[in-house]
Amino acid sequence: MSKKLVLLILGLTFFLCTGCAINPVTGKEQLMLIPQRQDIAIGQRYAPEVEKQMGGRIANEGLQNYIDSLGQRIARVSHKPDLQYHFLAVEDESVNALALPGGYVFVTKGMLKKLTTEAQLAAILAHELVHIVARHASAAMSREIGIEILLSAVTSDKTPRGVLTAAGLTRQILGLRYSRSDEREADLVGMDYLAAAGYNPYGMVETMQMLENQQQIRPIEFFSTHPNPENRIAYLTQKIQTDHHNLAALKTGKDDYLTAVLSALK
Ligand SMILES: [Zn+2]
Repeated sequence: MSKKLVLLILGLTFFLCTGCAINPVTGKEQLMLIPQRQDIAIGQRYAPEVEKQMGGRIANEGLQNYIDSLGQRIARVSHKPDLQYHFLAVEDESVNALALPGGYVFVTKGMLKKLTTEAQLAAILAHELVHIVARHASAAMSREIGIEILLSAVTSDKTPRGVLTAAGLTRQILGLRYSRSDEREADLVGMDYLAAAGYNPYGMVETMQMLENQQQIRPIEFFSTHPNPENRIAYLTQKIQTDHHNLAALKTGKDDYLTAVLSALK
């Protein structure tokens, strides 16, 4: 091959790959303008603000350790086991859970009170974990906030462009909406993580049922950031049937959840 041709191919490859990344969950290329290390920088920068705006962390070390170790167990079976993950319970009474790029997952007191088993909490954490691993969170931020604004806030302590404060940006982050296909991927891949970590995948179905029931009583926060396709429960139930898990060998953990979470919140 001539030197010129090699250079041409190298140049073309560079051109085609800039701005693309392989989604580790689907194996497909996705348009991604933020390098992975920036995900981590954004997570580190905004996690304390998000925590503050969600009422601060629940002051119970036993509870926090329980949630973090459950999250770490799921992270180990994910497509990106080596990222450093942080799972935190916050005081907010609304029913919600949230992922930040780079490995941060928040679950609210309002959500924890509505769940009844360890498998259900594992389902919420697994769903949010997929948003991080598949970089839905970074993509939504690039799309809705503008990555240059976020990064200028990461790299400088000054108010980015003099327009938005860190608190203002955090409010935008809290209101990010995922696409329906992101949600579907988070549900289905999250269910794989759930079972791989040793939990009954019906935990995911029960959680979605609970959220839908809550939504009928009054609008809940989770659905303002997680648009809900109506067939969610149907496709999750169908997946369980085709996956043929040995359900008897998988954990539900009702008593553990009662002891570690519900009793601790009383
Ligand atoms: Zn979601």
